[in-house]
Amino acid sequence: MAPMPDTPAACKTRIREASAQFQAQGLDKTAAEVEGALASAWLLQRRGVLAPRDVPDFIDAARSALKKVAPPPPKKVKFSDPIRKVLPLAEASVRSAFDASLLLLALTQVGDFIEEPDKKRRDQELFLDDWRRMIWESARVPDWARFRQLVGREERVLEGRLSRDAALQTLEAIARRRADNLTPIPDLSVLACGRCGQFRGRDRVKCAQCAGTFCTRCLGPAADQCINDYATRYTAIPADDRQRIGSETRAILKELRLDAHTRNDAIARGLKEKGVDVSYTESAPLEGHETDGEQGRTKFQIRDRESGGVKRALFAALARRHFRGAGAEVKPLEIDYFVEVCMGVPVEEALKPPAQAS
Ligand SMILES: [Zn+2]
Ligand SMILES: [Zn+2]
Repeated sequence: MAPMPDTPAACKTRIREASAQFQAQGLDKTAAEVEGALASAWLLQRRGVLAPRDVPDFIDAARSALKKVAPPPPKKVKFSDPIRKVLPLAEASVRSAFDASLLLLALTQVGDFIEEPDKKRRDQELFLDDWRRMIWESARVPDWARFRQLVGREERVLEGRLSRDAALQTLEAIARRRADNLTPIPDLSVLACGRCGQFRGRDRVKCAQCAGTFCTRCLGPAADQCINDYATRYTAIPADDRQRIGSETRAILKELRLDAHTRNDAIARGLKEKGVDVSYTESAPLEGHETDGEQGRTKFQIRDRESGGVKRALFAALARRHFRGAGAEVKPLEIDYFVEVCMGVPVEEALKPPAQAS
């Protein structure tokens, strides 16, 4: 086993060299080398040496080298072309060859592909299928059942759990789509969410604080922090107070029949019952603008948008009214906490000590 390359560039070199020598070295050795280099790249990514924004370029470079080993099917076969020789791949090497695609998929899912055109995504899918066909041809894999058997179903644990099963399902969908142009690619992640441990949902976001990768449901409302790190801001409110605010908030939501999915006009109706008159104006600031109205009522101006921001602003107006009505001092963090309860953000759950690390 070669020593672990300590830079993304060294990983690329290793992949390039292995690909250039594949005919001399044979596919078993090549697959092991490529898989090792991609595993190193994965670890470098986890340690922040390979940044998500640099991942797309890394994958491009790896793919163009690997195309030598697994070329796309020729569009037209010319008689002058040399006959393509299929090199053998031992059944015992199928898993490492497959893991190369698993790692490519994992890297793709943490990479910053926002700026990438769809064509790149498509190229990546076609390449993954070419690589899979190369494995099948060389190891004489007859079908998906046998491929699954050779790869196995257990997860690969490599600073984060990687799902071979999710990768197999994705590769199978890509192969079918290539044939029928119709099969949808399932929205599966090969990378477990750092909080819920699920593989559903391809989008993974890195938490700026703990550097873990999370599914979009396990992110806090700020979206650059996982819910666990986000929730710690509320530890500044004593647990008893949080509990009291939580049950008061839930009682109000129940009384007004509101929840996180209620449309804004319904929240505005609830606010009216509580003495806050909402009016919509485009010149209002994003968080809304509050002024005193007549007979102790409050006027609240907000933009007319069915957005999360506006929803939070409306719930915040409800919170201020509630705390003022109770004669309590209005503390910004308590307002925020009230809003989290309204929005169904699982703050308390996130503040509990983790049951098990994943
Ligand atoms: Zn999750
Ligand atoms: Zn975090």
